[in-house]
Amino acid sequence: MVKLAEWRGKEVFQKYGVPLPRGAVARSADEAESLTRSGAVPLPCVVKAQVLAGGRGKGGAVKFANTPDEARAAAASILGLEFKGEKVTELLLEEKLPIARELYLSFTLDRSLRLPIAIASAQGGVEIESVDDAAIERVPIHPFPGLAAYEKRRIAERLGVSGSVAKSLDRLLDALWRAFQGEDAELVEINPLAVVGEGLVALDAKVIVEDDAGFRHPEYGDIRDDRTPLEEIAREKEIAFVQLDGNIGVIANGAGLTMATLDVLKEFGGNPGVFLDLGGTDDPKKVTEAFLLMAQAKPKAVFLNIFGGVTRCDTVANGLVAAMKEVPPENRFPLVARIRGNNEKEGIEILRANGITSIPTLKESAQAVVAAAGGKA
Ligand code: ADP
Ligand code: MG
Repeated sequence: MVKLAEWRGKEVFQKYGVPLPRGAVARSADEAESLTRSGAVPLPCVVKAQVLAGGRGKGGAVKFANTPDEARAAAASILGLEFKGEKVTELLLEEKLPIARELYLSFTLDRSLRLPIAIASAQGGVEIESVDDAAIERVPIHPFPGLAAYEKRRIAERLGVSGSVAKSLDRLLDALWRAFQGEDAELVEINPLAVVGEGLVALDAKVIVEDDAGFRHPEYGDIRDDRTPLEEIAREKEIAFVQLDGNIGVIANGAGLTMATLDVLKEFGGNPGVFLDLGGTDDPKKVTEAFLLMAQAKPKAVFLNIFGGVTRCDTVANGLVAAMKEVPPENRFPLVARIRGNNEKEGIEILRANGITSIPTLKESAQAVVAAAGGKA
Protein backbone atom coordinates (compact mmCIF):
# COMPACT_ATOMS: atom_id res chain seq x y z
CA MET A 1 0.00 0.00 0.00
CA VAL A 2 1.39 3.35 -1.00
CA LYS A 3 -0.40 5.97 1.08
CA LEU A 4 0.15 9.54 0.01
CA ALA A 5 0.35 12.37 2.51
CA GLU A 6 -2.44 14.92 2.12
CA TRP A 7 -0.32 17.38 0.17
CA ARG A 8 0.79 14.72 -2.28
CA GLY A 9 -2.77 13.51 -2.63
CA LYS A 10 -3.75 17.08 -3.41
CA GLU A 11 -1.02 17.29 -6.06
CA VAL A 12 -2.73 14.31 -7.68
CA PHE A 13 -6.13 16.02 -7.37
CA GLN A 14 -4.70 19.17 -8.93
CA LYS A 15 -3.39 17.19 -11.88
CA TYR A 16 -6.87 15.82 -12.61
CA GLY A 17 -8.77 19.03 -11.93
CA VAL A 18 -10.36 18.43 -8.52
CA PRO A 19 -10.95 21.90 -6.98
CA LEU A 20 -8.73 22.67 -3.98
CA PRO A 21 -8.02 25.51 -1.54
CA ARG A 22 -4.90 27.55 -2.32
CA GLY A 23 -2.02 26.36 -0.21
CA ALA A 24 1.62 25.39 0.21
CA VAL A 25 3.83 23.02 2.19
CA ALA A 26 6.03 24.30 5.03
CA ARG A 27 8.73 22.42 6.93
CA SER A 28 9.51 25.08 9.54
CA ALA A 29 7.76 27.79 11.54
CA ASP A 30 9.81 30.39 9.60
CA GLU A 31 8.53 29.05 6.35
CA ALA A 32 4.94 29.04 7.63
CA GLU A 33 5.27 32.68 8.59
CA SER A 34 6.81 33.80 5.30
CA LEU A 35 4.28 31.89 3.19
CA THR A 36 1.48 33.78 4.88
CA ARG A 37 3.32 37.12 4.98
CA SER A 38 4.02 37.00 1.25
CA GLY A 39 0.41 36.09 0.47
CA ALA A 40 1.42 32.76 -1.10
CA VAL A 41 -1.05 31.33 1.42
CA PRO A 42 -4.03 33.70 1.93
CA LEU A 43 -5.14 34.58 5.46
CA PRO A 44 -6.95 33.45 7.50
CA CYS A 45 -5.42 30.05 6.98
CA VAL A 46 -5.39 26.50 8.30
CA VAL A 47 -2.17 24.75 9.40
CA LYS A 48 -2.31 20.98 9.05
CA ALA A 49 0.10 18.26 10.18
CA GLN A 50 1.09 16.02 7.28
CA VAL A 51 0.78 12.61 8.89
CA LEU A 52 -0.91 9.56 7.42
CA ALA A 53 -3.23 8.96 10.36
CA GLY A 54 -6.69 10.49 10.24
CA GLY A 55 -8.54 12.40 12.93
CA ARG A 56 -6.10 15.29 12.90
CA GLY A 57 -8.88 17.84 13.31
CA LYS A 58 -10.03 16.31 16.61
CA GLY A 59 -6.49 15.50 17.69
CA GLY A 60 -5.13 19.05 17.62
CA ALA A 61 -3.09 18.57 14.47
CA VAL A 62 -5.17 21.08 12.46
CA LYS A 63 -5.05 24.70 13.62
CA PHE A 64 -6.27 28.04 12.33
CA ALA A 65 -4.36 31.30 12.04
CA ASN A 66 -5.41 34.88 11.26
CA THR A 67 -1.99 36.54 11.02
CA PRO A 68 1.53 35.51 9.94
CA ASP A 69 2.55 35.46 13.63
CA GLU A 70 -0.31 33.11 14.46
CA ALA A 71 0.68 30.92 11.51
CA ARG A 72 4.21 30.76 12.88
CA ALA A 73 2.95 29.89 16.37
CA ALA A 74 0.55 27.22 15.04
CA ALA A 75 3.34 25.73 12.94
CA ALA A 76 5.75 25.72 15.88
CA SER A 77 3.22 23.97 18.08
CA ILE A 78 2.45 21.22 15.54
CA LEU A 79 5.93 20.54 14.11
CA GLY A 80 7.75 17.91 16.12
CA LEU A 81 4.53 16.59 17.66
CA GLU A 82 4.11 12.88 17.71
CA PHE A 83 0.70 12.19 16.25
CA LYS A 84 -0.50 8.59 16.61
CA GLY A 85 3.11 7.43 16.51
CA GLU A 86 4.17 9.58 13.56
CA LYS A 87 6.49 12.51 13.95
CA VAL A 88 5.26 15.67 12.24
CA THR A 89 7.91 17.10 9.92
CA GLU A 90 5.72 18.69 7.25
CA LEU A 91 2.76 21.04 7.33
CA LEU A 92 0.20 22.02 4.76
CA LEU A 93 -0.95 25.63 4.98
CA GLU A 94 -4.14 26.51 3.16
CA GLU A 95 -6.59 29.34 2.93
CA LYS A 96 -9.40 28.89 5.42
CA LEU A 97 -12.64 28.58 3.49
CA PRO A 98 -16.16 29.43 4.71
CA ILE A 99 -17.74 25.96 4.82
CA ALA A 100 -21.51 25.70 4.34
CA ARG A 101 -21.67 21.90 4.51
CA GLU A 102 -19.20 19.01 4.81
CA LEU A 103 -19.78 15.99 2.56
CA TYR A 104 -18.00 12.68 2.03
CA LEU A 105 -16.96 11.24 -1.31
CA SER A 106 -14.63 8.46 -2.36
CA PHE A 107 -13.88 5.85 -4.98
CA THR A 108 -12.50 2.54 -3.86
CA LEU A 109 -12.56 -1.12 -4.81
CA ASP A 110 -15.31 -3.37 -3.54
CA ARG A 111 -13.75 -6.80 -3.13
CA SER A 112 -16.98 -8.74 -2.93
CA LEU A 113 -18.49 -7.04 -5.98
CA ARG A 114 -15.09 -7.04 -7.70
CA LEU A 115 -15.86 -3.56 -8.95
CA PRO A 116 -14.89 0.00 -8.25
CA ILE A 117 -17.45 1.70 -6.10
CA ALA A 118 -18.35 5.29 -5.31
CA ILE A 119 -19.14 5.98 -1.67
CA ALA A 120 -20.99 9.19 -0.85
CA SER A 121 -22.53 10.65 2.26
CA ALA A 122 -24.06 13.97 3.20
CA GLN A 123 -22.46 13.48 6.62
CA GLY A 124 -18.86 14.39 5.86
CA GLY A 125 -16.09 15.63 8.10
CA VAL A 126 -16.34 12.65 10.45
CA GLU A 127 -14.83 9.23 9.89
CA ILE A 128 -17.00 7.34 7.45
CA GLU A 129 -16.81 4.24 9.68
CA SER A 130 -18.82 6.11 12.29
CA VAL A 131 -21.59 7.21 9.90
CA ASP A 132 -24.86 5.31 10.06
CA ASP A 133 -25.05 2.86 7.17
CA ALA A 134 -28.40 4.28 6.05
CA ALA A 135 -26.73 7.64 5.43
CA ILE A 136 -24.15 6.17 3.06
CA GLU A 137 -24.73 5.66 -0.66
CA ARG A 138 -22.70 3.00 -2.46
CA VAL A 139 -22.68 3.04 -6.24
CA PRO A 140 -20.85 0.20 -8.03
CA ILE A 141 -19.23 1.40 -11.23
CA HIS A 142 -18.27 -0.67 -14.20
CA PRO A 143 -14.63 0.24 -14.91
CA PHE A 144 -14.89 0.26 -18.73
CA PRO A 145 -17.73 2.71 -19.46
CA GLY A 146 -16.90 4.57 -16.23
CA LEU A 147 -19.32 6.84 -14.42
CA ALA A 148 -22.73 7.09 -16.03
CA ALA A 149 -24.85 10.24 -15.86
CA TYR A 150 -27.57 8.48 -13.85
CA GLU A 151 -25.01 7.28 -11.35
CA LYS A 152 -23.79 10.83 -10.90
CA ARG A 153 -27.36 12.04 -10.41
CA ARG A 154 -27.91 9.37 -7.77
CA ILE A 155 -24.84 10.60 -5.89
CA ALA A 156 -25.91 14.25 -6.20
CA GLU A 157 -29.34 13.40 -4.86
CA ARG A 158 -27.94 11.58 -1.83
CA LEU A 159 -25.50 14.41 -1.13
CA GLY A 160 -28.46 16.78 -1.27
CA VAL A 161 -26.92 19.17 -3.78
CA SER A 162 -28.63 20.93 -6.66
CA GLY A 163 -28.18 23.85 -9.04
CA SER A 164 -24.64 25.10 -9.51
CA VAL A 165 -23.29 22.93 -6.68
CA ALA A 166 -24.63 19.88 -8.52
CA LYS A 167 -22.89 21.06 -11.69
CA SER A 168 -19.69 21.46 -9.75
CA LEU A 169 -20.19 17.92 -8.38
CA ASP A 170 -20.67 16.56 -11.87
CA ARG A 171 -17.26 17.88 -12.99
CA LEU A 172 -15.62 16.89 -9.73
CA LEU A 173 -16.87 13.30 -9.98
CA ASP A 174 -15.36 12.98 -13.46
CA ALA A 175 -12.06 14.44 -12.27
CA LEU A 176 -11.91 12.20 -9.20
CA TRP A 177 -12.79 9.14 -11.25
CA ARG A 178 -9.99 9.95 -13.72
CA ALA A 179 -7.60 10.33 -10.77
CA PHE A 180 -8.72 6.96 -9.37
CA GLN A 181 -8.08 5.19 -12.65
CA GLY A 182 -5.08 7.19 -13.81
CA GLU A 183 -3.13 6.68 -10.60
CA ASP A 184 -4.08 2.98 -10.23
CA ALA A 185 -5.49 3.95 -6.86
CA GLU A 186 -7.26 1.63 -4.48
CA LEU A 187 -8.71 4.63 -2.71
CA VAL A 188 -9.26 8.31 -3.50
CA GLU A 189 -11.16 9.96 -0.68
CA ILE A 190 -12.33 13.51 -0.04
CA ASN A 191 -13.45 14.04 3.53
CA PRO A 192 -14.65 16.67 3.90
CA LEU A 193 -15.78 17.73 0.49
CA ALA A 194 -16.94 21.22 1.38
CA VAL A 195 -19.78 23.20 -0.08
CA VAL A 196 -18.32 26.69 -0.36
CA GLY A 197 -20.54 29.33 -1.91
CA GLU A 198 -21.85 27.96 -5.19
CA GLY A 199 -19.19 25.27 -5.59
CA LEU A 200 -17.32 22.38 -4.02
CA VAL A 201 -13.77 22.21 -2.68
CA ALA A 202 -11.75 19.19 -1.53
CA LEU A 203 -10.52 20.18 1.94
CA ASP A 204 -8.77 16.88 2.61
CA ALA A 205 -7.24 14.23 0.34
CA LYS A 206 -6.48 10.60 0.93
CA VAL A 207 -4.95 8.68 -1.93
CA ILE A 208 -3.74 5.09 -1.70
CA VAL A 209 -2.01 3.67 -4.74
CA GLU A 210 -2.19 -0.06 -5.39
CA ASP A 211 1.12 -1.70 -4.50
CA ASP A 212 1.20 -3.94 -7.55
CA ALA A 213 0.94 -0.92 -9.85
CA GLY A 214 4.10 0.54 -8.30
CA PHE A 215 6.14 -0.16 -11.41
CA ARG A 216 3.90 2.19 -13.39
CA HIS A 217 4.46 4.97 -10.87
CA PRO A 218 8.17 5.56 -10.28
CA GLU A 219 7.14 8.98 -8.89
CA TYR A 220 5.94 7.23 -5.72
CA GLY A 221 9.12 5.16 -5.33
CA ASP A 222 10.45 7.33 -2.50
CA ILE A 223 7.37 6.94 -0.32
CA ARG A 224 8.06 5.16 2.90
CA ASP A 225 5.52 2.48 3.58
CA ASP A 226 4.12 1.77 6.99
CA ARG A 227 6.22 -1.39 7.19
CA THR A 228 8.06 -2.16 10.40
CA PRO A 229 11.87 -2.52 10.18
CA LEU A 230 11.53 -6.32 10.32
CA GLU A 231 8.86 -6.27 7.62
CA GLU A 232 11.24 -4.22 5.51
CA ILE A 233 14.00 -6.83 5.87
CA ALA A 234 11.52 -9.60 5.08
CA ARG A 235 10.43 -7.78 1.96
CA GLU A 236 14.01 -7.55 0.72
CA LYS A 237 14.37 -11.29 1.26
CA GLU A 238 11.02 -11.90 -0.42
CA ILE A 239 9.52 -13.44 2.68
CA ALA A 240 5.85 -12.73 3.39
CA PHE A 241 6.00 -11.48 6.97
CA VAL A 242 3.50 -9.32 8.87
CA GLN A 243 3.76 -7.96 12.40
CA LEU A 244 0.56 -7.52 14.39
CA ASP A 245 0.02 -6.72 18.06
CA GLY A 246 -0.35 -10.20 19.57
CA ASN A 247 2.19 -12.53 21.17
CA ILE A 248 1.97 -15.79 19.19
CA GLY A 249 4.10 -16.19 16.08
CA VAL A 250 2.66 -18.20 13.21
CA ILE A 251 4.65 -19.89 10.49
CA ALA A 252 2.51 -21.52 7.85
CA ASN A 253 2.62 -22.03 4.12
CA GLY A 254 0.21 -20.46 1.69
CA ALA A 255 -2.01 -17.46 2.39
CA GLY A 256 -5.11 -19.61 2.99
CA LEU A 257 -3.56 -21.84 5.62
CA THR A 258 -1.81 -18.87 7.23
CA MET A 259 -5.07 -16.91 7.60
CA ALA A 260 -6.95 -19.99 8.79
CA THR A 261 -4.26 -20.59 11.41
CA LEU A 262 -4.66 -17.05 12.75
CA ASP A 263 -8.42 -17.60 12.96
CA VAL A 264 -8.03 -20.90 14.78
CA LEU A 265 -5.67 -19.38 17.35
CA LYS A 266 -8.18 -16.60 17.96
CA GLU A 267 -10.91 -19.19 18.28
CA PHE A 268 -8.99 -20.86 21.12
CA GLY A 269 -8.38 -17.59 22.93
CA GLY A 270 -4.91 -16.92 21.58
CA ASN A 271 -3.53 -13.65 20.30
CA PRO A 272 -1.54 -14.18 17.10
CA GLY A 273 1.11 -11.50 16.66
CA VAL A 274 3.49 -12.14 13.81
CA PHE A 275 2.84 -14.30 10.86
CA LEU A 276 5.04 -15.64 8.21
CA ASP A 277 3.95 -17.36 5.06
CA LEU A 278 6.64 -19.70 3.76
CA GLY A 279 4.76 -20.02 0.48
CA GLY A 280 6.20 -22.65 -1.81
CA THR A 281 9.89 -23.21 -1.21
CA ASP A 282 12.21 -26.19 -1.43
CA ASP A 283 15.14 -24.32 0.07
CA PRO A 284 15.86 -25.05 3.76
CA LYS A 285 18.03 -21.89 3.86
CA LYS A 286 15.00 -19.77 3.15
CA VAL A 287 13.15 -21.50 5.97
CA THR A 288 16.07 -20.78 8.30
CA GLU A 289 16.10 -17.10 7.32
CA ALA A 290 12.37 -16.81 7.81
CA PHE A 291 12.62 -18.47 11.18
CA LEU A 292 15.42 -16.18 12.39
CA LEU A 293 13.30 -13.21 11.37
CA MET A 294 10.45 -14.62 13.45
CA ALA A 295 12.82 -14.96 16.42
CA GLN A 296 13.75 -11.27 16.16
CA ALA A 297 10.10 -10.34 16.58
CA LYS A 298 10.30 -12.03 20.04
CA PRO A 299 7.00 -13.91 20.14
CA LYS A 300 6.06 -15.70 23.37
CA ALA A 301 5.42 -18.92 21.48
CA VAL A 302 5.47 -20.02 17.88
CA PHE A 303 3.09 -22.24 15.99
CA LEU A 304 4.52 -23.97 12.97
CA ASN A 305 1.59 -25.16 10.89
CA ILE A 306 2.70 -26.69 7.62
CA PHE A 307 0.85 -28.62 5.00
CA GLY A 308 3.60 -30.09 2.88
CA GLY A 309 3.24 -29.81 -0.87
CA VAL A 310 5.92 -28.05 -2.88
CA THR A 311 7.21 -27.03 0.53
CA ARG A 312 8.07 -30.49 1.79
CA CYS A 313 7.82 -31.29 5.49
CA ASP A 314 11.44 -32.42 5.69
CA THR A 315 12.64 -29.18 4.05
CA VAL A 316 10.82 -27.19 6.69
CA ALA A 317 12.07 -29.43 9.50
CA ASN A 318 15.68 -29.13 8.33
CA GLY A 319 15.44 -25.37 7.99
CA LEU A 320 13.85 -25.12 11.39
CA VAL A 321 16.43 -27.24 13.14
CA ALA A 322 19.25 -25.24 11.54
CA ALA A 323 17.58 -21.99 12.63
CA MET A 324 16.98 -23.17 16.21
CA LYS A 325 20.72 -23.54 16.59
CA GLU A 326 21.35 -19.97 15.47
CA VAL A 327 18.70 -18.25 17.57
CA PRO A 328 20.43 -16.46 20.46
CA PRO A 329 19.23 -17.71 23.89
CA GLU A 330 17.44 -14.44 24.74
CA ASN A 331 15.26 -14.80 21.65
CA ARG A 332 14.28 -18.45 22.16
CA PHE A 333 10.63 -19.39 22.49
CA PRO A 334 8.47 -22.49 22.95
CA LEU A 335 7.54 -24.05 19.64
CA VAL A 336 4.54 -26.15 18.72
CA ALA A 337 4.66 -27.90 15.41
CA ARG A 338 2.04 -29.49 13.24
CA ILE A 339 3.40 -30.77 10.00
CA ARG A 340 1.36 -32.82 7.60
CA GLY A 341 1.54 -33.75 3.95
CA ASN A 342 4.43 -34.38 1.61
CA ASN A 343 7.34 -36.17 3.38
CA GLU A 344 5.52 -35.91 6.69
CA LYS A 345 7.24 -38.95 8.25
CA GLU A 346 10.72 -37.69 7.43
CA GLY A 347 9.86 -34.22 8.73
CA ILE A 348 8.43 -35.53 11.99
CA GLU A 349 11.49 -37.73 12.48
CA ILE A 350 13.88 -34.79 11.99
CA LEU A 351 11.91 -32.72 14.51
CA ARG A 352 11.72 -35.58 17.00
CA ALA A 353 15.48 -36.11 16.84
CA ASN A 354 15.76 -32.49 17.90
CA GLY A 355 13.29 -32.64 20.73
CA ILE A 356 10.24 -31.20 18.96
CA THR A 357 7.02 -33.20 18.73
CA SER A 358 4.53 -32.63 15.98
CA ILE A 359 0.92 -32.58 17.17
CA PRO A 360 -1.24 -33.98 14.37
CA THR A 361 -4.60 -32.25 14.97
CA LEU A 362 -5.20 -28.57 14.46
CA LYS A 363 -7.29 -28.21 17.59
CA GLU A 364 -4.80 -29.78 19.98
CA SER A 365 -1.81 -28.05 18.44
CA ALA A 366 -3.53 -24.65 18.54
CA GLN A 367 -4.51 -25.17 22.18
CA ALA A 368 -0.94 -26.17 23.02
CA VAL A 369 0.46 -22.93 21.54
CA VAL A 370 -2.12 -20.79 23.31
CA ALA A 371 -1.13 -22.44 26.60
CA ALA A 372 2.58 -22.03 25.83
CA ALA A 373 2.02 -18.30 25.23
CA GLY A 374 0.52 -17.93 28.69
CA GLY A 375 -3.08 -19.04 28.22
CA LYS A 376 -6.12 -17.27 26.92
CA ALA A 377 -5.79 -13.57 26.15
P1 ADP B 1 -8.62 15.04 9.41
O1 ADP B 1 -9.45 14.26 8.46
O2 ADP B 1 -7.30 14.41 9.66
O3 ADP B 1 -9.34 15.39 10.69
P2 ADP B 1 -9.13 17.34 7.70
O4 ADP B 1 -8.23 17.79 6.62
O5 ADP B 1 -10.33 16.60 7.26
O6 ADP B 1 -8.27 16.47 8.73
O7 ADP B 1 -9.51 18.60 8.55
C1 ADP B 1 -10.35 18.52 9.69
C2 ADP B 1 -11.40 19.63 9.67
O8 ADP B 1 -10.76 20.89 9.58
C3 ADP B 1 -12.31 19.55 8.46
O9 ADP B 1 -13.40 18.70 8.70
C4 ADP B 1 -12.72 20.99 8.29
O10 ADP B 1 -13.84 21.27 9.12
C5 ADP B 1 -11.54 21.78 8.79
N1 ADP B 1 -10.72 22.26 7.64
C6 ADP B 1 -9.74 21.60 7.01
N2 ADP B 1 -9.23 22.33 6.00
C7 ADP B 1 -9.92 23.48 5.99
C8 ADP B 1 -9.88 24.68 5.19
N3 ADP B 1 -9.01 24.82 4.17
N4 ADP B 1 -10.74 25.68 5.49
C9 ADP B 1 -11.62 25.55 6.52
N5 ADP B 1 -11.70 24.47 7.30
C10 ADP B 1 -10.87 23.44 7.05
MG1 MG C 1 -10.43 14.52 6.77
